[in-house]
Amino acid sequence: MNMMDLMTDNKVHDESRQGEAYAPFANDPNQYKKKFYIESYGCQMNFSDSEIVASILNSAGYGATRDTEEADLVLLNTCSIREKAEQTIRKRLTEFRKAKMRRPGMLVGVLGCMAERLKANLLEEEKLVDMVVGPDAYRTLPGLIEEAEGGQKSVNVLLSRDETYADISPVRLESNGMSAFISIMRGCNNMCSFCVVPFTRGRERSRDAKSIIAEAQDLFDRGFREVTLLGQNVDSYYFVDEKSNETVSFAMLMERVALISPDLRVRFSTSHPKDITDEVLYTMAKYENICKYIHLPVQSGNTRVLQLMNRTYTREWYMKKVDRIKEILPDCGISSDIIAGFCSETEEEHQDTLSIMDYSQYDYSYMFFYSERPGTLAARRYKDDVPEEVKKRRLQEIVDKQYHLSLESNKRDVGKTYKVLIEGESKKDENAWMGRNSQNKVIVFAKEQYNLKKGDYVYVTVTDCTKGTLLGVIEK
Ligand code: SAM
Ligand code: SF4
Repeated sequence: MNMMDLMTDNKVHDESRQGEAYAPFANDPNQYKKKFYIESYGCQMNFSDSEIVASILNSAGYGATRDTEEADLVLLNTCSIREKAEQTIRKRLTEFRKAKMRRPGMLVGVLGCMAERLKANLLEEEKLVDMVVGPDAYRTLPGLIEEAEGGQKSVNVLLSRDETYADISPVRLESNGMSAFISIMRGCNNMCSFCVVPFTRGRERSRDAKSIIAEAQDLFDRGFREVTLLGQNVDSYYFVDEKSNETVSFAMLMERVALISPDLRVRFSTSHPKDITDEVLYTMAKYENICKYIHLPVQSGNTRVLQLMNRTYTREWYMKKVDRIKEILPDCGISSDIIAGFCSETEEEHQDTLSIMDYSQYDYSYMFFYSERPGTLAARRYKDDVPEEVKKRRLQEIVDKQYHLSLESNKRDVGKTYKVLIEGESKKDENAWMGRNSQNKVIVFAKEQYNLKKGDYVYVTVTDCTKGTLLGVIEK
């Protein structure tokens, strides 16, 4: 695998899903007067938001289509995290502008983080779109569509202090019907100096715990067997029920979701290393169905760089956190996000990142080179002075290191038996199943004579591995 593949081969920005069109329901009994098409980019939270948008549009009489040619409304749910994402979206918008010349009635809108960041440019200067809607303004979409249909360009990108979409039931992508993502909070209060999220998504707001539990219960009742609780910083989830005065921490929330059924797996992402508590780790240890996997982004292994990044922990503090996880949850998988070539990073400081990867024994990492984002603290305060070829070389060293760590981690699993949730048929072999273990590793194994189906649990013994996949046989 080359560097670019690995760099983008990540779950946060799952490259295979970038630009994915939202799928309509196969058997939707409702009749819609018009059709919408939505394409999503960026992190899992954006994909989850597209499901909220689909729900709002369904209620306004719009049904989903995967064909832009028959869409009355074309939407792009965008991301600003990396420059590359913005470039891709601009390219798509230019293509849609051409389609619009052929079909003038079609409306084009931009949603999400890029809408928030580039509102004036997109609408007024470049005249690429009819509507620009920020992540906190999706409820106003039907009104904005009406305005745009009347010929008026419309915009609503106001960030809200309390929007959580708690009362909207997302319309799920039916692609696997087994695992779903639930947004438990929006925004972020951290100010990592490289990151645009605090500017595009606003202040942190935790969603009502009851509505989260109700959504998870409903998913379970509909056959889903895995939910991932999503937030930029899930460990700072904190909800106060004004009626009962009860406060709910992330550990309590996770426990309540886990108690829905032992057959419902619970995952979460992302944990900021400064916030993950012993309470969370002990709750994970207490419930078998809370998956033993933590995404704990380090970003850099050097204390000076971490300070510049405003991550609020040191190298030593991070290492102690890893020790604690391994002490309380000895079989826990850990993954990370890593940035190569942040402003003023020296060669020795880069070596610190490589050595903390060894120390933490990451099973997986999402690896990026630093790209300056306008408006961030780093863009205002520091010079982006590590030459591009140096950034890329350092990133390649990080990628190579991770390659070995992932392979070693998988090799250590050979001979072990895991409880696996079947997600579907293997893409490469119709006679094999593909599933995941608690540690989030993909396992492929022959179906054999057993009458198993998607959503079943099965014990599988690992017999072999590659860097990305475990291979196994069903435990007799
Ligand atoms: N909230 C999560 C956290 O704190 O780790 C993830 C936020 S962000 C959506 C996902 C990852 O993108 C970050 O962890 C970081 O590694 C990467 N990232 C964000 N801004 C970046 C930038 N300007 N250049 C390179 N990578 C960046
Ligand atoms: Fe961005 Fe830091 Fe917030 Fe993550 S924790 S979203 S990296 S500001």
